[in-house]
Amino acid sequence: MTKKKIVVSGIRSTGPLHVGHYFGALKSWIELQEKYECYFFVADWHALTTDFKDPSQIKTYLLDNVSDWLALGVDPKKAALFIQSSVPEHAELYLALSMITPLGWLERNPTYKDQKEALKHKDLSNLGFLGYPVLQAADIALYQGELVPVGEDQVPHLELSREIIRRFNHLYGETLVEPQPILSASPRVLGSDGRKMSNSYQNAVLLSDPEEVVTKKVMTYMTDPARKRRQDPGDPKKCPLYSLHELFTEEKTLKEVDLGCRTAKIGCVDCKKTLLQRLTPWHQSYTEKRKALNPKTVQKVLDEGQKKASAVAQKTMTEVKKALKIL
Ligand code: SF4
Repeated sequence: MTKKKIVVSGIRSTGPLHVGHYFGALKSWIELQEKYECYFFVADWHALTTDFKDPSQIKTYLLDNVSDWLALGVDPKKAALFIQSSVPEHAELYLALSMITPLGWLERNPTYKDQKEALKHKDLSNLGFLGYPVLQAADIALYQGELVPVGEDQVPHLELSREIIRRFNHLYGETLVEPQPILSASPRVLGSDGRKMSNSYQNAVLLSDPEEVVTKKVMTYMTDPARKRRQDPGDPKKCPLYSLHELFTEEKTLKEVDLGCRTAKIGCVDCKKTLLQRLTPWHQSYTEKRKALNPKTVQKVLDEGQKKASAVAQKTMTEVKKALKIL
């Protein structure tokens, strides 16, 4: 039997999960776990880089987020699920890689500049935030990750991890696997106000929202601003609600919605009801599975995941220390 390739991916735990998290990451995890050996983790160290002033949120959402993963279909029998900080080798390899990463690489990193701009309200002049890509490289290399699921726009971020790993291998001999991107669909999910769906904008449809709240959010969702009156034709590409239709609605109906909107044959209220007919059953199914999970089950999953991850991480660190001649 040929060995399955190794996939590594993590999600920060800084808030409740929303529809955008499912379609942006978790859906692809559920597909990847069928084919690859997967290591999926809650990136709590990463969450600290931006939320160090109030870390209470990270802990609050940790078990909650993992419970959501399970309810949505991430399967602990197929993937190791764990908390990043429960495997201390993440921090250890981060330290080793930080010794060899030129500062200029981190300072030039476009994500660093963009994020600093986007999160102006936060104090981000810390080493942890600048060194974020080094920790990311350590997260992947620790499991000798061969594939990392990324959206097209994130390929350059992974390139920096690849460069750091290449540099290590160049300096000390082939020790770490250089990962390749595996392109996953990363649809642009827009929130109720037309901006990217995000907890920080308070515009998200949360998985934990009760059904009536989901309905209310959808019915008051922003639509194409050009459709002021029912008879005004619209453009689905300019409509935030349509970005949800693209996720939930089957091709044939999607085409009807598109045409109906452009010719003003359908109104926005009907269009939203068509979406709810698809979104509500999906959400109900998630809610039922989520309610059936108890914290003990989730903790057991994490304990088992941690054991599996630790065994691999320790082996890699032994190799790294041998290469660095500090064993
Ligand atoms: S009809 Fe639908 S797609 Fe068109 S603007 Fe209204 S909500 Fe958006």
